[in-house]
Amino acid sequence: MNKAGSTLLTKLKTLRFRIFLTIMLTGLLPGIALSFLFLATMRDRGVASDVSGITTQVQLLNDEIISGGYLTDLNRDDVRHSLSAIGNVYSGRVMVMDSGLRVIYDTYEMYEGRTMVWDNAIKSLSGSTESTYDTSNHSVTVTVPLADSHTGEIMGVILITKSAELMERNLTYYQNIVVISLVALFAVVFYLALILSGRFVMPIRKVKFQIVDMSKGVGPGVMNVPDVTETMEVSRVFNHYNQQMKMLDDSRQEFVSNVSHELKTPLTSMKVLSDSILSMGEDAPVEMYREFMTDIAGEIERETDIINDLLSLVRMDKKDSTLNISQVNVNELMELIMKRLSPIAEAAGVDMVLESFRPVIVELDEVKFSLAISNLIENGIKYNEEGGWVHVSINSDHRYCYIRVEDCGMGIPEDALDHVFERFYRADKSHSREINGNGLGLAITMSAIRMHQGEIKVASTLGEGTTFDVRVPLKHIDEGEAVYDH
Ligand code: ADP
Repeated sequence: MNKAGSTLLTKLKTLRFRIFLTIMLTGLLPGIALSFLFLATMRDRGVASDVSGITTQVQLLNDEIISGGYLTDLNRDDVRHSLSAIGNVYSGRVMVMDSGLRVIYDTYEMYEGRTMVWDNAIKSLSGSTESTYDTSNHSVTVTVPLADSHTGEIMGVILITKSAELMERNLTYYQNIVVISLVALFAVVFYLALILSGRFVMPIRKVKFQIVDMSKGVGPGVMNVPDVTETMEVSRVFNHYNQQMKMLDDSRQEFVSNVSHELKTPLTSMKVLSDSILSMGEDAPVEMYREFMTDIAGEIERETDIINDLLSLVRMDKKDSTLNISQVNVNELMELIMKRLSPIAEAAGVDMVLESFRPVIVELDEVKFSLAISNLIENGIKYNEEGGWVHVSINSDHRYCYIRVEDCGMGIPEDALDHVFERFYRADKSHSREINGNGLGLAITMSAIRMHQGEIKVASTLGEGTTFDVRVPLKHIDEGEAVYDH
């Protein structure tokens, strides 16, 4: 489609055009229909008045024709005279037929003596007055029965054709009035439709202008179109959405700056370490080289950990990331995780206990779920003291598997509880320096549990310990069919 065509199509599809069209149609259609009705009524009335005039005239003639025996004595000049006078009055034609439809009198003397079988004449022989309006000849033809006034017997039919020119002249006059009225109506409705359609779409246009302003950073930054309830509602929903987008943008920016900072710290340490070795030149003792290189290796390991954690998070964040679901024996999985973590626990002097109430089989992505639970147990060990303990328990009901990781460690301050699942958040900054970590562990755990349509909750008392409660459905629920009960 060419440009002009598509612009026209766009215009025709606008709400304003639809409203305009609706007003035009509702305004004009009744007017047009009424005009046609009016003209048809005027014509019917014209015909009816002609028919009634002719019928009255015929009634006056009836006795003269019947009683005078005109139907049998065809030479009654007085009757012929009266009939021809009527013909003159109506500038038309008069015919009289007997009961056998033989024409006895014809103004034009064309059919006299012939039998004419006309529908209306046949009907009038049964007693009814019939009329037809011939639009091409502009004439009204009326057939009236001729009845004996004493016996009521129908003796014949009189047919009068009358010119309808006068009636039509009247009709043309009315038609002109109707056309002028319709043109006036069109002008008024067109004007109204133009004004009203513009008014009706104005709130929507305001919404558009405000969005454009907001996208350019002009104006107050919130949408406010209180003109109608609908735009009030749109403003409310839009502002809510906008706020969420802003929050998302803020958290993205914060995330990027955190990532940059976290990645820079080990690099800065490495730079300082390598610079100090280099500044010593060849005199530096081998032990110092070794010590510095060990530190550099530690920083590299830290950097690698951060990058690995970030990659895990990003993979889980992806909308299309899929779970590799299989039937997993959670009891065996927990034993395996704790076995893997036992060297760390031993080094920290923390005791690990696994309590299992029943064997639990769950449909899980084993790798992601292990990562989630490992982080919790590892934290239980990390944020603990020598001689402390970490208690892991497994339970289930008919729908869910419950895993609790409890420790008697340092606990989390109340105001930090809401933030521990945020990326790069570390509750106690003074401890963070002593205890290794990057603040990504719990964020990874939360993402992994959510991917399983599960839930995680934390409770903690500062100085007494922390408890993480995880709940996942026994049967894997696809994202689309997930139902959360909060
Ligand atoms: P980190 O790498 O710092 O451990 P996490 O995301 O795993 O990052 O934890 C976020 C913060 O929550 C930690 O820095 C710590 O302050 C706090 N935290 C997490 N688990 C525990 C726990 N079991 N006991 C005390 N504090 C905890």
